[in-house]
Amino acid sequence: MKINIAIDGPSASGKSTIAKALAKRLNYTHIDTGSMYRACAYLALKHDLRPNDEELVDYVNKSQFEFNENGHILLNGKDIDSKIRSKHIDLLTSTIAQNQAIRSTLVRIQQQMAHTKGYILDGRDIGSVVLKDAELKVFQTASIESRAKRRLTEYQVKGIDVDYQTIYDEIKLRDLQDRSREHSPLTQTEDAHVLDTSDLTIEQSVDQVYRWAMELIEERRDTND
Ligand code: C5P
Repeated sequence: MKINIAIDGPSASGKSTIAKALAKRLNYTHIDTGSMYRACAYLALKHDLRPNDEELVDYVNKSQFEFNENGHILLNGKDIDSKIRSKHIDLLTSTIAQNQAIRSTLVRIQQQMAHTKGYILDGRDIGSVVLKDAELKVFQTASIESRAKRRLTEYQVKGIDVDYQTIYDEIKLRDLQDRSREHSPLTQTEDAHVLDTSDLTIEQSVDQVYRWAMELIEERRDTND
Protein backbone atom coordinates (compact mmCIF):
# COMPACT_ATOMS: atom_id res chain seq x y z
CA MET A 1 0.00 0.00 0.00
CA LYS A 2 1.77 3.09 -1.24
CA ILE A 3 0.83 6.76 -1.10
CA ASN A 4 2.07 9.95 -2.76
CA ILE A 5 3.70 12.69 -0.70
CA ALA A 6 3.81 16.39 -1.60
CA ILE A 7 6.39 18.58 0.15
CA ASP A 8 6.18 22.32 -0.46
CA GLY A 9 7.93 25.22 1.16
CA PRO A 10 10.19 28.24 0.66
CA SER A 11 13.76 28.26 -0.63
CA ALA A 12 16.47 26.61 1.40
CA SER A 13 14.04 25.08 3.92
CA GLY A 14 15.67 21.68 3.32
CA LYS A 15 12.78 20.11 1.40
CA SER A 16 14.96 18.10 -0.99
CA THR A 17 17.22 16.79 1.78
CA ILE A 18 14.21 15.58 3.78
CA ALA A 19 12.41 14.21 0.70
CA LYS A 20 15.50 12.30 -0.42
CA ALA A 21 16.07 10.69 3.00
CA LEU A 22 12.39 9.86 3.34
CA ALA A 23 12.30 8.27 -0.13
CA LYS A 24 15.20 6.06 0.87
CA ARG A 25 13.47 5.00 4.08
CA LEU A 26 10.13 4.25 2.40
CA ASN A 27 11.68 2.91 -0.79
CA TYR A 28 9.80 5.58 -2.79
CA THR A 29 10.94 7.68 -5.75
CA HIS A 30 11.90 11.29 -5.06
CA ILE A 31 11.45 14.03 -7.65
CA ASP A 32 13.03 17.39 -6.93
CA THR A 33 10.85 19.61 -9.13
CA GLY A 34 13.01 22.68 -8.36
CA SER A 35 15.81 21.14 -10.39
CA MET A 36 13.50 21.04 -13.43
CA TYR A 37 12.91 24.80 -13.15
CA ARG A 38 16.66 25.22 -12.63
CA ALA A 39 17.27 23.23 -15.84
CA CYS A 40 15.10 25.79 -17.67
CA ALA A 41 17.32 28.58 -16.32
CA TYR A 42 20.31 26.60 -17.57
CA LEU A 43 18.68 26.43 -21.03
CA ALA A 44 18.11 30.22 -20.99
CA LEU A 45 21.76 30.89 -20.16
CA LYS A 46 23.01 28.37 -22.70
CA HIS A 47 20.98 29.91 -25.55
CA ASP A 48 21.29 33.48 -24.29
CA LEU A 49 17.51 33.92 -23.88
CA ARG A 50 15.44 36.03 -21.50
CA PRO A 51 12.86 34.51 -19.09
CA ASN A 52 9.90 35.55 -21.25
CA ASP A 53 11.30 34.74 -24.69
CA GLU A 54 9.01 32.53 -26.77
CA GLU A 55 12.10 30.68 -27.94
CA LEU A 56 12.83 29.58 -24.38
CA VAL A 57 9.36 27.99 -24.17
CA ASP A 58 10.15 26.17 -27.47
CA TYR A 59 13.43 24.84 -26.05
CA VAL A 60 11.66 23.70 -22.86
CA ASN A 61 8.91 21.97 -24.88
CA LYS A 62 11.49 20.17 -27.00
CA SER A 63 13.68 19.09 -24.06
CA GLN A 64 13.71 15.83 -22.16
CA PHE A 65 13.75 15.96 -18.35
CA GLU A 66 14.72 12.82 -16.47
CA PHE A 67 16.36 11.82 -13.19
CA ASN A 68 19.14 9.26 -12.74
CA GLU A 69 19.47 6.83 -9.83
CA ASN A 70 21.32 9.47 -7.75
CA GLY A 71 18.41 11.88 -8.16
CA HIS A 72 20.45 14.08 -10.51
CA ILE A 73 18.56 15.84 -13.25
CA LEU A 74 19.33 14.83 -16.82
CA LEU A 75 18.52 17.46 -19.41
CA ASN A 76 18.36 15.84 -22.85
CA GLY A 77 20.32 12.93 -21.43
CA LYS A 78 23.09 15.05 -19.86
CA ASP A 79 23.65 15.26 -16.08
CA ILE A 80 23.62 19.02 -15.38
CA ASP A 81 23.11 18.80 -11.60
CA SER A 82 26.44 20.39 -10.67
CA LYS A 83 25.78 23.32 -13.05
CA ILE A 84 22.42 24.42 -11.68
CA ARG A 85 23.22 25.16 -8.03
CA SER A 86 24.69 28.63 -8.00
CA LYS A 87 23.51 31.98 -6.65
CA HIS A 88 23.03 33.28 -10.19
CA ILE A 89 20.83 30.33 -11.21
CA ASP A 90 18.82 30.63 -7.94
CA LEU A 91 17.42 34.05 -8.82
CA LEU A 92 17.10 33.48 -12.56
CA THR A 93 15.11 30.30 -11.87
CA SER A 94 12.71 32.11 -9.61
CA THR A 95 12.05 34.63 -12.44
CA ILE A 96 11.67 31.93 -15.10
CA ALA A 97 9.26 30.05 -12.81
CA GLN A 98 6.82 32.96 -13.28
CA ASN A 99 6.37 31.99 -16.94
CA GLN A 100 3.04 30.14 -17.15
CA ALA A 101 3.83 28.38 -20.46
CA ILE A 102 6.96 26.86 -18.90
CA ARG A 103 5.07 25.94 -15.74
CA SER A 104 2.34 24.07 -17.59
CA THR A 105 4.90 22.00 -19.53
CA LEU A 106 6.79 21.07 -16.35
CA VAL A 107 3.60 20.34 -14.39
CA ARG A 108 2.45 17.97 -17.17
CA ILE A 109 5.79 16.12 -17.12
CA GLN A 110 5.74 15.89 -13.30
CA GLN A 111 2.20 14.49 -13.32
CA GLN A 112 3.23 11.89 -15.89
CA MET A 113 6.27 10.93 -13.81
CA ALA A 114 4.14 10.45 -10.66
CA HIS A 115 1.05 8.92 -12.24
CA THR A 116 1.15 5.93 -9.86
CA LYS A 117 1.74 5.81 -6.08
CA GLY A 118 5.09 5.73 -4.26
CA TYR A 119 6.33 9.20 -5.19
CA ILE A 120 7.62 12.09 -3.12
CA LEU A 121 7.68 15.39 -4.99
CA ASP A 122 9.07 18.56 -3.50
CA GLY A 123 8.59 22.09 -4.78
CA ARG A 124 6.26 25.07 -4.40
CA ASP A 125 3.02 23.98 -6.09
CA ILE A 126 2.95 20.23 -5.49
CA GLY A 127 0.08 20.08 -2.99
CA SER A 128 -1.83 22.89 -4.71
CA VAL A 129 -1.40 21.98 -8.41
CA VAL A 130 0.79 19.01 -9.39
CA LEU A 131 -0.47 16.36 -6.95
CA LYS A 132 -3.66 17.88 -5.57
CA ASP A 133 -4.78 14.41 -4.54
CA ALA A 134 -1.56 13.43 -2.72
CA GLU A 135 -2.47 11.50 0.44
CA LEU A 136 0.13 13.37 2.51
CA LYS A 137 0.90 17.06 2.06
CA VAL A 138 3.65 18.76 4.04
CA PHE A 139 4.39 22.46 4.15
CA GLN A 140 7.99 22.68 5.28
CA THR A 141 9.23 25.98 6.56
CA ALA A 142 12.01 27.54 8.65
CA SER A 143 13.00 31.05 9.69
CA ILE A 144 14.96 33.08 7.12
CA GLU A 145 17.87 33.21 9.60
CA SER A 146 18.17 29.44 9.90
CA ARG A 147 17.75 28.95 6.13
CA ALA A 148 20.46 31.54 5.41
CA LYS A 149 22.82 29.90 7.93
CA ARG A 150 22.30 26.48 6.30
CA ARG A 151 22.87 27.87 2.79
CA LEU A 152 26.03 29.68 4.00
CA THR A 153 27.43 26.39 5.32
CA GLU A 154 26.60 24.65 2.01
CA TYR A 155 28.45 27.34 0.04
CA GLN A 156 31.42 27.25 2.43
CA VAL A 157 31.71 23.48 2.02
CA LYS A 158 31.78 24.00 -1.77
CA GLY A 159 34.48 26.68 -1.31
CA ILE A 160 32.22 29.48 -2.61
CA ASP A 161 33.09 32.85 -1.10
CA VAL A 162 29.87 34.59 -0.01
CA ASP A 163 28.70 36.46 3.08
CA TYR A 164 25.70 35.80 5.32
CA GLN A 165 23.91 39.09 4.56
CA THR A 166 24.01 38.52 0.77
CA ILE A 167 22.48 35.06 1.19
CA TYR A 168 19.88 36.38 3.64
CA ASP A 169 18.82 39.13 1.19
CA GLU A 170 18.62 36.70 -1.74
CA ILE A 171 16.49 34.20 0.15
CA LYS A 172 14.16 37.02 1.16
CA LEU A 173 13.88 38.16 -2.45
CA ARG A 174 13.22 34.63 -3.74
CA ASP A 175 10.54 34.16 -1.05
CA LEU A 176 8.86 37.35 -2.17
CA GLN A 177 9.01 36.36 -5.88
CA ASP A 178 7.77 32.83 -5.22
CA ARG A 179 4.94 33.92 -2.91
CA SER A 180 3.69 36.88 -4.91
CA ARG A 181 3.83 35.58 -8.49
CA GLU A 182 0.60 35.43 -10.47
CA HIS A 183 0.74 31.75 -11.45
CA SER A 184 0.90 28.99 -8.81
CA PRO A 185 2.47 31.05 -6.03
CA LEU A 186 3.94 29.23 -3.07
CA THR A 187 0.94 28.54 -0.82
CA GLN A 188 0.21 26.39 2.16
CA THR A 189 -2.87 24.29 1.37
CA GLU A 190 -5.45 23.81 4.13
CA ASP A 191 -4.87 20.07 4.24
CA ALA A 192 -1.07 20.33 4.68
CA HIS A 193 0.84 19.36 7.82
CA VAL A 194 3.20 22.17 8.80
CA LEU A 195 6.77 21.23 9.56
CA ASP A 196 8.91 24.05 10.97
CA THR A 197 12.51 22.84 10.75
CA SER A 198 14.15 25.94 12.30
CA ASP A 199 15.12 24.02 15.42
CA LEU A 200 15.04 20.47 14.09
CA THR A 201 17.88 18.30 12.83
CA ILE A 202 17.50 16.55 9.46
CA GLU A 203 16.94 13.28 11.30
CA GLN A 204 14.16 14.75 13.48
CA SER A 205 12.45 16.26 10.44
CA VAL A 206 12.58 13.00 8.47
CA ASP A 207 11.27 11.10 11.52
CA GLN A 208 8.27 13.43 11.77
CA VAL A 209 7.25 13.12 8.11
CA TYR A 210 7.88 9.37 8.25
CA ARG A 211 5.47 9.10 11.22
CA TRP A 212 2.77 11.05 9.35
CA ALA A 213 3.28 8.84 6.28
CA MET A 214 3.16 5.59 8.27
CA GLU A 215 -0.05 6.65 10.06
CA LEU A 216 -1.72 7.12 6.68
CA ILE A 217 -0.31 3.92 5.22
CA GLU A 218 -1.50 1.91 8.27
CA GLU A 219 -4.93 3.57 8.14
CA ARG A 220 -5.34 2.65 4.47
CA ARG A 221 -4.09 -0.89 5.11
CA ASP A 222 -6.73 -1.29 7.88
CA THR A 223 -9.53 0.02 5.63
CA ASN A 224 -8.54 -2.39 2.87
CA ASP A 225 -8.46 -5.41 5.21
O1 C5P B 1 13.47 24.20 -4.78
P1 C5P B 1 14.48 25.07 -5.48
O2 C5P B 1 15.05 26.15 -4.62
O3 C5P B 1 15.53 24.27 -6.18
O4 C5P B 1 13.65 25.78 -6.64
C1 C5P B 1 14.22 26.78 -7.45
C2 C5P B 1 13.12 27.74 -7.90
O5 C5P B 1 12.22 27.05 -8.79
C3 C5P B 1 12.24 28.29 -6.80
O6 C5P B 1 12.75 29.49 -6.25
C4 C5P B 1 10.91 28.53 -7.50
O7 C5P B 1 10.87 29.80 -8.09
C5 C5P B 1 10.90 27.51 -8.62
N1 C5P B 1 10.01 26.38 -8.36
C6 C5P B 1 8.66 26.51 -8.64
N2 C5P B 1 7.83 25.44 -8.50
C7 C5P B 1 8.29 24.26 -8.08
C8 C5P B 1 9.67 24.10 -7.76
C9 C5P B 1 10.51 25.20 -7.89
O8 C5P B 1 8.22 27.59 -9.00
N3 C5P B 1 7.47 23.22 -7.99
